[in-house]
Amino acid sequence: MNDRLVSVVVVGARGRMGQTLIRTVMESETMTLVGAVDRSGGPGLGQDAGQLCGMPRSGITVTDELRPPRGAVVVDFSLAGATEANVGRCAALGAPLVLGTTGISSDTLARLHEAAETIPIVSAANFSVGITLMLRLANLAARALGPEWETEILEIHHRHKKDAPSGTALRIAKAVASARDRAVDDVVVKSRDTADQPRDKDEIGVMALRGGDSVGEHELFFFGEGERIELVHRATDRAIFARGALRAARWITTKPPGLYDMADVLSLPGF
Ligand code: NAD
Repeated sequence: MNDRLVSVVVVGARGRMGQTLIRTVMESETMTLVGAVDRSGGPGLGQDAGQLCGMPRSGITVTDELRPPRGAVVVDFSLAGATEANVGRCAALGAPLVLGTTGISSDTLARLHEAAETIPIVSAANFSVGITLMLRLANLAARALGPEWETEILEIHHRHKKDAPSGTALRIAKAVASARDRAVDDVVVKSRDTADQPRDKDEIGVMALRGGDSVGEHELFFFGEGERIELVHRATDRAIFARGALRAARWITTKPPGLYDMADVLSLPGF
């Protein structure tokens, strides 16, 4: 990794991720904050971006206009409804984009593919370096072990999380299912409360626990005869997503137009 100074514009600046990104950029010696954007009419506009997140003054004012200077990378963790306009703006100005916003519609996804013909974009639902690697390890393990190893996933998240099981747990299930040439929806089992028979050999149980302040834990079990393999990822700090996104921001500065994901950033083989 080289130490060229990377200029970053953070979109969604006032949000949980936006503030973490601003702090991480300001603490970095190889990145510089050149813009901070949040929604029109929202609180925080006109404030110094550093002070907004408990840091010293940055000299960058939070605005509602996305206008990346030449050479800057846009890092957007905001709202799905805002993605299409932000992508269009980046494409029009030729700015590389790192997109972390989740829940984007299929129309917006089509727009993303279109924009990727003219600018490089890294889009990932989970920018954690550890989870990106775990998905590949899950796929690799499932391929090596074969379908006779029964597979189950357990995930734990804080008490406020609304969806269950987590999107990441389902992506781990998909990584296993794809190694077995199965559609994930055909093999995932999210509840066994009505089950009146033993597990099917091909099913992948995905179970969720909720409580406390856990940032996110994912455990993947492969059960063999007389042995068991477990792959575990434990997140203890939301800053992992910001660190991963900023690693992607550095990586993208030298890439041609295209739609990339975090596995590309880590040079991991696809599956
Ligand atoms: P948040 O609600 O705390 O922050 C969102 C921010 O975006 C708010 O400040 C909001 O005012 C701002 N915003 C809304 N509309 C905007 C617009 N048009 N232009 C600019 N800013 C706008 O949410 P969060 O927890 O920071 O998460 C933000 C997004 O990132 C969500 O989609 C979340 O799912 C996603 N996320 C992704 C990852 C990942 O690794 N990919 C990790 C964590 C969160």
